[in-house]
Amino acid sequence: MSSGTSSTGMTGNTTLITNIASLVTNDPSLGWGSPRSSKFENGGGSPLGLIQDAAVVIDGDRIAWTGDSREAPATDNRVDAGGRAVIPGFVDSHSHLVFAGDRTQEFNARMSGRAYSAGGIRTTVAATRAASDEELERNLTRHLDEALRQGTTTFETKSGYGLTIEDEARALRIASAHTEEVTYLGAHIVSPDHADDPAAYVALVTGEMLDACAPYARWIDVFCEKGAFDGDQARAILTAGRAKGLHPRIHANQLSYGPGVQLAVELDAASADHCTHLTDADVDALANGRTVATLLPGAEFSTRAEWPDARRLLDAGATVALSTDCNPGSSFTSSVPFCIALAVRDMGMTPDEAVWSATAGGAAALRRTDIGRLVPGARADLVLLDAPSHVHLAYRPGVPLAAAVWRKGTEVFGGRGGAGR
Ligand SMILES: [Zn+2]
Repeated sequence: MSSGTSSTGMTGNTTLITNIASLVTNDPSLGWGSPRSSKFENGGGSPLGLIQDAAVVIDGDRIAWTGDSREAPATDNRVDAGGRAVIPGFVDSHSHLVFAGDRTQEFNARMSGRAYSAGGIRTTVAATRAASDEELERNLTRHLDEALRQGTTTFETKSGYGLTIEDEARALRIASAHTEEVTYLGAHIVSPDHADDPAAYVALVTGEMLDACAPYARWIDVFCEKGAFDGDQARAILTAGRAKGLHPRIHANQLSYGPGVQLAVELDAASADHCTHLTDADVDALANGRTVATLLPGAEFSTRAEWPDARRLLDAGATVALSTDCNPGSSFTSSVPFCIALAVRDMGMTPDEAVWSATAGGAAALRRTDIGRLVPGARADLVLLDAPSHVHLAYRPGVPLAAAVWRKGTEVFGGRGGAGR
């Protein structure tokens, strides 16, 4: 750690961020423990690759060097972190941000203990279909800006509120202008237009709708749940997507036990998302496969549901990601720090594990190695916290701690490294 690590010859515009009290690199080569092991949990180490009194050099859009601040190379620009912490930008690998309308009444009724029988997802489908492209894009960028101000530098987002060929393709086209992590979720629920004939809707999702959507998407997803799509339907949908070059991911085991997690592992899905109701066999499958378990505690918070058991997954050796599931119905938060605080308080994660899961874990859930860690060659996506340590993300819940945010080497929030604050 003393000599720092750097990539080959720096060129272009370089910036040194120095006087970092604590730097989270998520660099496994720093040898503080493997994220797939829980051995670090009681002070034995950390998956975070922490460096104290650290500095980072950004060269263009990449990290060029990390190490001890006293050994940092000369650069064109210099930012004083003021004895605060720097972490990788959050990777939010699960959101639903192309929508219109909101579901305030539904939430209010649920939290007030009143019955509420409006249409749930169907309410958002109707509002989304009725919205103009401009409205959808404005709503999307509003939530992206909100997430960015809280430290999210990469996000995945899905269709799923159109449920017609044109409306699904439109949602993906709008999303693809803002992120490369776009997911086709025509199989969110059976479209109300096909309520009497789910098989016909599956045929549409795997046929014409897939053909129209595939050019805009990297991923295909399905809500595998009672009342949505069963295991056979989910398999047909994901297999059809894979044949068109889309990679699978699944909404699995959120509301009840079911086949989603096993199917995700069998199809080598990048992620099984939610994982709230797991059998021992489900946990074993995740621990032994490549599929990441993505936990979305905003959903349990917003529906007063039972928390997913992160500790059980980590102890078994599964890779865990933490994301927001930001959507207007069941988890209307764009705040990854809020999810970190919930995961630590209620799901058995240590602060180190939760921060790892919200950064490197999210990257793993998107099968990405260029983000979620601050190592030479990685994308220069990082957050300066208004705190001396990443632990404050859980220790100070609800407090806006992002002082400055860099994405692809450019400071996109905060100004002057947040020094003016
Ligand atoms: Zn979701």
